[in-house]
Formats: sequence, structure tokens, C-alpha cells
Amino acid sequence: MTATPKPAIDTSRPHPARVYDWLLGGKDHYLVDQRVGEKLPAEARGNAARNRAFMHRAAAWLAGQGVDQFLDIGTGIPTEPNLHQIVQAVVPSARVVYADNDPIVLRHAEALLVSSEEGVTDYIEADVRDPGSIIMHARSVLDFDRPVALSLIALLHFVPDGDDPYGITRALVDALPSGSWLVLSHGTADEHPELESSTKDAYKEGAIPLRMRTRAEVERFFAGLELAAPGLVTATGWYREEPAPVSERSGFYVGVARVP
Ligand code: SAH
Repeated sequence: MTATPKPAIDTSRPHPARVYDWLLGGKDHYLVDQRVGEKLPAEARGNAARNRAFMHRAAAWLAGQGVDQFLDIGTGIPTEPNLHQIVQAVVPSARVVYADNDPIVLRHAEALLVSSEEGVTDYIEADVRDPGSIIMHARSVLDFDRPVALSLIALLHFVPDGDDPYGITRALVDALPSGSWLVLSHGTADEHPELESSTKDAYKEGAIPLRMRTRAEVERFFAGLELAAPGLVTATGWYREEPAPVSERSGFYVGVARVP
């Protein structure tokens, strides 16, 4: 085991991973992050929990389909169960590569690196805006001749239009072999139009760029892919084995799509 990495944490300004941790009721954030969280509409906490619950269901479903390789970008501060725990409970030999650009996630990476004995978990500090280096690293852990599930969960609303989120997604998906999967969730104000400006303002005050997108804009991320049932829905509507419970409003669109 190598020495625990101790990256520098900038506590003078809020970071998305730590605001999200506050929203989920975690303890790995600072006062600056809490201040952003407290300015967000009250629904933000439920939306974060419902997004996380979607991740659980989608990862378990894919593992149940036999998918045993995962590349999760924008992982966030570890919150149990993490993706590898979900998928290795189904496929103990599953291999998972995590990537995030916030040094606080690296500081907690040990928690992400406790793999099942048969499987592998790996962590890289990287920015999704540099998809080439993430793929290059992932190739050293995953077999790109076999299907890989790429997850971009609650990540791309932090990538402004000027950074070409569609081109980034395309570059990542194009590296995956046929039969791979894209799991995506994305913040939206479609179901909460009255909360849009207060949400944007809270992040803006924290100097965190937030670009919520409409249904049509989120659908574009799936161009050329085959959306699995139930298609592009809000986080509370994505169920496979069981029927969706009475739908609650959601701040996230979600979808799981196959690479043809
Ligand atoms: N995927 C997790 C966490 C979502 S919070 C979940 O849904 O539960 C969003 C995460 O994306 C944060 O951890 C943040 O640090 C990360 N992130 C934001 N911009 C990023 C970028 N450009 N590259 C990589 N990660 C980024």
C-alpha cells in the first residue's frame, strides 16, 4: 500500500464535490460549501439523494446484465454504497476506474480503492475536459475490447457550453467498443422552473459554473446511442425490474444507453 496522498484542499472557495456532499448529508465539506448548499432551494437535497439512488439502480442493472467494467467520471466524495460496491456485490470480479478533478476526492480515494478480492478499483485525478488522458489511463486497467459502462452522473451540468460537453461525451463514447453503455444524469430546471434562478445564483455566488439543460439538450448527449427502457426520464422514473413509484418532481434527467 502506498502512502496516503494528501493533496492541497482549497477551503477558501466552494467546490461542487463538497457542496454535493453537504446536500447528501455527508461530513466532507467546509463552511464555504455549506453556505452554497444553504442558499440552494430546499429541493436540492432531495434531488441529490434521488440522483444517487438512480446511480444505484442503473449500476446494479448493468452489472446484472453481465457488465463487469466501469469507468465513472465525476465520482464525487465517497458515499456508501459507492459504485464499485454496488457492481461488485453482483459481479465480484468487476473492474472500476474512478476519475474526478477535485483534489478532495483524491484525498478520500482509499475508500474508493477497497475492492472486492476478485475485482479491481482504481482512481485517477483527471478532468473530463481532457477525455484523451482519461481513456489512456482507463485502458491500463480495463479491456477496451470488451464492453465498458461509462458513467457521467451529475457531472456535465458543471461543463459549460464553451467547453464542448457534447464533443467531450462523443470522444469518450467513441473510445468504447460496441455493446458498451453510457449512464448519464444531468441537472435540469424543466420540472422546477420557479427554482432555476435561485439555483443558478447560489452556484454563481460560489463561482461554480452551472449549466442546467433542457430535455432536448440532455437528449443530444445520447445521439447515435440506443436508449434502454424506460428511455430518457427524470431520476425518479428510471426503474427496470420494479414499476416506478408515484413520480416525484426531479431536478435530473437520466438515461442509460447502449453503444451500437
Ligand atoms: N457522480 C457522483 C457525484 C456528483 S457531484 C454522484 O452522482 O453521486 C459532481 C462531481 O463532478 C464532483 O465530484 C466534482 O468534483 C466533479 N467534477 C466537476 N467538474 C469536473 C470536471 N471538469 N472533471 C472531472 N470531474 C469534475
